[in-house]
Amino acid sequence: MSEDKRIILDPFGTTVVEDYERLFTEFGIRPLKPLLSEIPNPFMAMRRGVIFGHRDLERVIEAMKSGREYAVMSGIKPTGEFHLGTLMTAREIIYFQQQGATAFYCIADIEAYEDNGIPFEESEKIAINNVADLLALGFDPRRGYIYRQSKEERVKDLAIIFSRGVTLATIKAIYGERHMGLYLSALIQAGDILMPQLEDFGGPKPTVVPVGIDQDPHIRFTRDLADKFQNKFRFIPPSSTYHRLIKALDGSYKMSKRDPMSYFTLDEDPEIIKKKIFNAFTGGRPTAEEQRKLGGNPEICPIFDLYLFHFLEDDKEVIELYNDCKHGNILCGEDKSRLAKIVMDFVKEHQRRKHQYIDKAIEILKTK
Ligand code: SF4
Repeated sequence: MSEDKRIILDPFGTTVVEDYERLFTEFGIRPLKPLLSEIPNPFMAMRRGVIFGHRDLERVIEAMKSGREYAVMSGIKPTGEFHLGTLMTAREIIYFQQQGATAFYCIADIEAYEDNGIPFEESEKIAINNVADLLALGFDPRRGYIYRQSKEERVKDLAIIFSRGVTLATIKAIYGERHMGLYLSALIQAGDILMPQLEDFGGPKPTVVPVGIDQDPHIRFTRDLADKFQNKFRFIPPSSTYHRLIKALDGSYKMSKRDPMSYFTLDEDPEIIKKKIFNAFTGGRPTAEEQRKLGGNPEICPIFDLYLFHFLEDDKEVIELYNDCKHGNILCGEDKSRLAKIVMDFVKEHQRRKHQYIDKAIEILKTK
């Protein structure tokens, strides 16, 4: 990337960040690393730099340490089955819930309609599967609130109230020239993020919103609104954490439904997933001989990303893999075989568990 090329963070488009350091200087995001030793029991993705940045996480850490009430809030668009990107967001929500946060999981069906044209009848069906995924991954519905944007009056009420505080020029400056539905969807998302602080949910509290870096415009927009409506609601500006975007299996950052070989979902046949892994791009050399001599390049390798983001629990093993790759001690074929086995075992077990949660998901969504 040339020095003067702007980084565009676009929640409704494509975001590619090649130099994460620039986000600290250009967007005011702060590095997570200096806070790591303060976080009780940091999440795997935090320890490895996958979650690399934050805004105001200190107040959430303070609540974690002191046992004061705090919330985690994030959402996923019901546009399809859980994939490797949504898996990260789901795991982050569950992590904070397990550390003591009250958890809010939003099914962003209004955004799915406005951004992706998914009709509500369709997203309702997709949401059942997504909620069953979330429960199978460990979300505890007794200490959490799962809801659909389109059915949650409090979120819509907040969006209406907030709309008086936003001019067209402001919203255009943040999101660019878009159709009105996306601006509406941004206001709804601000409602989602601040709803945990309404009196119905115990009033103002630190709230962390774990998101991919492309979602930062929503966070900045909502923090401004929290400030603007401070007198009315006493909102505490929401905190956020940012994870890197995982590479697609072709080595790009574009997981596209038009190219099913570029990603896999948790619902797919494990044998197909295995095939996709074996077909994936790698950071390896053209021949085994060169690889042994020169080593591979894990930095550009989606196989390494899969281990790093999700499929190796032990940090020491990740470092070992990195070094083995760099020093040519391992070849891509054997590395892919190892990963395929881990992923297939995980997916089989996940699908078994998910199946048991479908009725529960239907029950939750009946009223939400
Ligand atoms: S050895 Fe593994 S991590 Fe290294 S380039 Fe090959 S597939 Fe990627």
